[in-house]
Amino acid sequence: MAAQLLDGKGIAKQIQMEIKAEVSEFMEKSGVTPCLAAILVGEDPASQVYVRNKERACERVGIASRLHRLPADTNEAELLALIDQLNTDSAVNGILVQLPLPSHIAETNILDSVHPLKDVDAFHPENVGLVVQGRPRFLPCTPHGVVQILHRCGIEISGRHAVVVGRSEIVGKPLANMLVQRTSNLGVSAANATVTVCHSRTVNLPKITREADILIAAIGHPRFITVDMIKPGAVVIDVGINRTDDGLVGDVDFEAALEVASAITPVPGGVGPLTIAMLLWNTIAAARMQSV
Ligand code: NDP
Repeated sequence: MAAQLLDGKGIAKQIQMEIKAEVSEFMEKSGVTPCLAAILVGEDPASQVYVRNKERACERVGIASRLHRLPADTNEAELLALIDQLNTDSAVNGILVQLPLPSHIAETNILDSVHPLKDVDAFHPENVGLVVQGRPRFLPCTPHGVVQILHRCGIEISGRHAVVVGRSEIVGKPLANMLVQRTSNLGVSAANATVTVCHSRTVNLPKITREADILIAAIGHPRFITVDMIKPGAVVIDVGINRTDDGLVGDVDFEAALEVASAITPVPGGVGPLTIAMLLWNTIAAARMQSV
């Protein structure tokens, strides 16, 4: 029997509608329009598309957005100076530095310089630490998107074995941290999983992935998770976005996985749309925190 398709696009739309209502209520009460400032360094085509999509999403929910475009040869000091200016600008509630940055700029120096209360990507070490301790200020956008899909599709997580393939700072590691939390203090009931994290040095990966009740792929290799790596009836969440000659594909061999999984996210239209929705979520949360 074919797996249930987990409609990330639909869930993201629903969340954006909720955020739109929240934004208008916040504006009515405070007289303040929440504002997200995005910084784009260089001309990377994929980054330009991502930033444009974020601007459009802001517009849809009533959040103001500003885009600071800097040339590819911008140096670290110049970028730090702009972030410093945005950190102290009371009209700006959230700051987003579009990654990747050009290789001559140290990403950690830049991300560490964003004010923790304006860090809507949740990359600042203070915010990462708060997530690890189970008392988050902001949840990282893509992992939060995954958790929202599971939560809103009524997929039980508590006590189940979640296997996360990938340990990046942006997806795999924070997601594993969120799934293992003791309580639902993340604001959603998606926690209490037994979590295994796999990476490129993992020995006998297929044996481990076949033990997953919930298998999450965040690898960056097209169709890497093949059908023999999936336990029949498992829930499969595909975070991967890979550009191939056949268009965008995920990290999972989707067509084959459909036949064994109980539920699966498509690519595109799965986790991707949630990432932007959760950025908006953090921006209105930031505006609230700064208004008290
Ligand atoms: P990274 O390249 O930072 O991390 C990839 C991870 O996969 C690493 O931990 C790596 O292990 C692991 N890995 C690589 N090869 C193997 C292998 N052969 N076996 C097991 N593990 C392996 O990628 P990201 O986490 O940033 O992104 C992952 C994917 O998710 C990409 O396709 C990206 O485009 C997509 N993505 C999607 C988003 C969305 O909105 N849907 C947002 C962000 C990313 P090691 O640490 O050992 O190198």
